Amino acid sequence: MNRINVMQPWLGQEEIDAVAEVISSGWVAQGPQVRRFEHEFAAAQHIEHAVATSSCTTALHLALVVAGIGSGDDVVVPSFSFIATANAVRYVGARPVFADVDPVTGNLTGETVDAALTARTRAVIVVDQGGVPVDLNDIRGLCDPRGIMVVEDAACAAGSTYHGRPVGAGADIAAWSFHPRKILTTGEGGMLTTPHAEWAARARRLREHAMSVSAAARHASVLAPPEEYGEVGFNYRMTDLQAAVGIVQLGRLPEVVARRRELARRYATAVAGLPGLRAVADPAWGTCNFQSFWVEVGQEYPVDRDALLARLADAGISARRGIMAAHRQPAYRDRQVLPLPVTEHLTDSTLILPLFHQMTLQQHARVLDALSSVFAGV
Ligand SMILES: *Cc1c(COP(=O)(O)O)cnc(C)c1O
Repeated sequence: MNRINVMQPWLGQEEIDAVAEVISSGWVAQGPQVRRFEHEFAAAQHIEHAVATSSCTTALHLALVVAGIGSGDDVVVPSFSFIATANAVRYVGARPVFADVDPVTGNLTGETVDAALTARTRAVIVVDQGGVPVDLNDIRGLCDPRGIMVVEDAACAAGSTYHGRPVGAGADIAAWSFHPRKILTTGEGGMLTTPHAEWAARARRLREHAMSVSAAARHASVLAPPEEYGEVGFNYRMTDLQAAVGIVQLGRLPEVVARRRELARRYATAVAGLPGLRAVADPAWGTCNFQSFWVEVGQEYPVDRDALLARLADAGISARRGIMAAHRQPAYRDRQVLPLPVTEHLTDSTLILPLFHQMTLQQHARVLDALSSVFAGV
């Protein structure tokens, strides 16, 4: 029996050709391909500026630096997220304050953020968890009058929409991931997007050691102008090898999202007929790319989440526990202040089903068979 993976990147000859071309060009580090990828990504997301980085984690770090968040500041984050969301806050010396999430979407809301505000709250990092668009206006309605910055962690959300626009387009600053577990991949890689030219320019310098002249610009001249280092920067650059792959992948995005939404629709229809299971769905304010198709395993279902995972594994189906809860990890365990009942419930009762572009309808049917077979006590 063939194993069904939870996720598989969709890569092909076009990506191979693009990388081969970069290698033949002799310029493999950050250069013209990165610049082109940034332009095309910014255009696709309807945001003025895009700055490519080595990962979403490093993009989040830069986002907080350019937004002026630092020691003494509190930043509200969901615990219900990959740990990098909270870690970025620690990198700048600020304090992450965990807020609970909505039981339906798994995202922060104005209400859950409000409960986590302190006198020192300077920013909130909202996450479009698993590609479900966060209700940004709800959160900005709370934060804007208080001068609290909203950073969007859109790691999972390329191809999702919010009120008819790409997610991230309404944020002051957003961070994206191109890890293979996400919707577009460059192997590793990330992007920072913002409508603010000064923030983009500073992030561009900071990702390259805060050099006043980029390595690519210096290389372009025979006698390179002397460079200056105005502050302490980082090496968070993307390579042209990665960007060449990213350009091809970005072109595939509409097709990838359409296919994922079609497979998700089939899952949702089938899951609706299975008592005790609830599937992630589009919220009223937008559409999901279904980067993670998760189901909540409720009381009416014959077995619990972990038993269902084991059953799926027996059938050669690699599902995954739902989104983690950062506050339970040793790195954060002693920091929790507010109770997080919804986060704990969702992280304990959800699992992520296989969903990827190349998934066949036969594979899809095998997953559905495994989900329904527990009712027959098979
Ligand atoms: C994957 C993920 C990240 C980290 O992305 P990298 O590109 O691997 O650094 C951050 N936040 C969220 C919500 C993620 O899902």
